[in-house]
Amino acid sequence: MNSDTRSDVSPVLRIIPRDQHSISRKNISKAALRVLYRLHDAGFAAYLVGGAVRDLLLGGHPKDFDVATDATPDEVKSLFRNCRLIGRRFRLAHVVFGPEIIEVATFRGTGEEGGEGDRHIVDGRIVRDNIWGTIEEDAVRRDFRVNALYYDISDFSVRDYVGGMRDLEDRTMRLIGDPEQRYREDPVRMLRAARLAAKLGFTIDPAAAAPFASLGHLLGEAAPARLFDESLKLFLAGHGLKSFKMLEACGLLKFLFPATARALERGDLALRALVEQGLANTDARIAEGKSVTPAFLYAVLLWGEVRDQAQGWIAQGYDDNEAWQRAAVHVVGEQCQRVAIPRRFTFTMEEIWALQPRFEQIHRKRVFRLMSHPRFRAAFDFLLLRAHESPRMRELGEWWAHAQQLPPEMLAAALGGGGVPPHEPSAASGAPARKRRRRRKPVGRGKGDSGGT
Ligand code: ATP
Ligand code: MG
Repeated sequence: MNSDTRSDVSPVLRIIPRDQHSISRKNISKAALRVLYRLHDAGFAAYLVGGAVRDLLLGGHPKDFDVATDATPDEVKSLFRNCRLIGRRFRLAHVVFGPEIIEVATFRGTGEEGGEGDRHIVDGRIVRDNIWGTIEEDAVRRDFRVNALYYDISDFSVRDYVGGMRDLEDRTMRLIGDPEQRYREDPVRMLRAARLAAKLGFTIDPAAAAPFASLGHLLGEAAPARLFDESLKLFLAGHGLKSFKMLEACGLLKFLFPATARALERGDLALRALVEQGLANTDARIAEGKSVTPAFLYAVLLWGEVRDQAQGWIAQGYDDNEAWQRAAVHVVGEQCQRVAIPRRFTFTMEEIWALQPRFEQIHRKRVFRLMSHPRFRAAFDFLLLRAHESPRMRELGEWWAHAQQLPPEMLAAALGGGGVPPHEPSAASGAPARKRRRRRKPVGRGKGDSGGT
């Protein structure tokens, strides 16, 4: 990292006046406008910046509004009662309006990315990393040109220092400065390129895509917690399927979800259909305003690997429970080294997986027990996705869908007395309700014992 990261870019200001762009104040959140006006009235520069300006110019609805100013965080704090300062590496102000938070950042100088230059003296105090800059410096330290546009509350113009407007017109993601250098500074920018291109329907400039092959591995050095946040933005923000395809096309999936990439590389078309359907369903739920859980989606993404590993253990003589548990622990453990999926989600994922073999056991008591399991709904939705795997799975899904619609007495009657359940999946399609004899093997062997795949 060098301390003058942007010496290769000379910003040239182009001002797009109010009547020549499409941003209207009625599409800006009231909270953001209040922050902008208050800063302006106090004599500070105040701009809407980043993704919000980009999305407004494209006619979209930004999910958050960021503000850039020449006021220091302390000055911002003194203007707003509902303000807290956050961030250790770089101090930021959060102005809180109920559920909405407006992030207010002081223009950042280019020096803050330098290894040595992370100390700065303000009013005699050493304040780590806080190197204030000019708006030009703030513009060139941003990642993509389309992300470096400023909407000026003083005259409602848009300020473009690095050619972002042109890129919006070309629908292209271009980095500010030298791509390789920008990715080395922060490898997560590679994921941002793929995610924003997918979300906006943009192409990635060939110069920005070229380093993916040689630098993608640097994502292995990014903090797993940050990658978890990024993965939510990729897959749970309404454009998950597009993000997934873009990550694959960019060759980046394997650095984020190695097991998923590996399983798909084995050419399993049914698995691909299952994963894509899972992502598409999630996108549809988000579009309808329904809730989504990361657990379900991560269960989908890691399914191929966990299933293959479980089958490997079963082939070695483990009973179902133990085999699934081992596979889940192994796959989740490997994944969490990359992407820190919180325990509350991995727990649910493991439950969704562990319940899958139980759908194959259509016996009176077990059917009712499974239906009353707290994770039944998610596990059943998962089973429906598995219709892609085989006709047998499709029939099972249909059977369980039907069973849930029957009044309990009718279901009991249909299952009871050795009776045949309605639509019982046919043996011809490979009914698995065979009894397995338990052959235990010692648990807790070495690490290299990775589950027969
Ligand atoms: P969205 O909010 O739609 O996901 P965004 O571009 O607004 O996209 P944020 O993470 O909200 O993304 O970041 C806000 C702005 O901060 C960006 O538009 C960009 O200008 C700057 N930024 C964010 N991450 C980086 C980064 N890793 N390197 C440089 N600049 C960044
Ligand atoms: Mg944003």
